[in-house]
Amino acid sequence: MTFFCTNCWKEIDRSTDVCPHCGKKQSELGQEPFVKKLIRALKHPEPSTPVRAAEILGELKAEEALPYLIELTKHSKDPFIVKAAISSIKKIKDTNYINNYEQQFKIP
Ligand SMILES: [Zn+2]
Repeated sequence: MTFFCTNCWKEIDRSTDVCPHCGKKQSELGQEPFVKKLIRALKHPEPSTPVRAAEILGELKAEEALPYLIELTKHSKDPFIVKAAISSIKKIKDTNYINNYEQQFKIP
């Protein structure tokens, strides 16, 4: 399994405590569950972070993230974030679900 820095969301080695990208100590980043951190990262002001978080949530098939991802597709103005959220929803839910959703909300 791949590990990610819970501050900057770049890929890091599991054995690394200090992130080589942002310098944050993983052991000091709090005891919040990983998926919760990812959900929080969906609202990160730096646009590449929500994109990355959405991708990882999709990989993890994190069902609890679905309402947040759907929210993102409705309210985000960033097409890259919307695209990442949609592809993540597709990974989490089956194809029929997302097809219905796309028809309902006219997502291209
Ligand atoms: Zn980092």
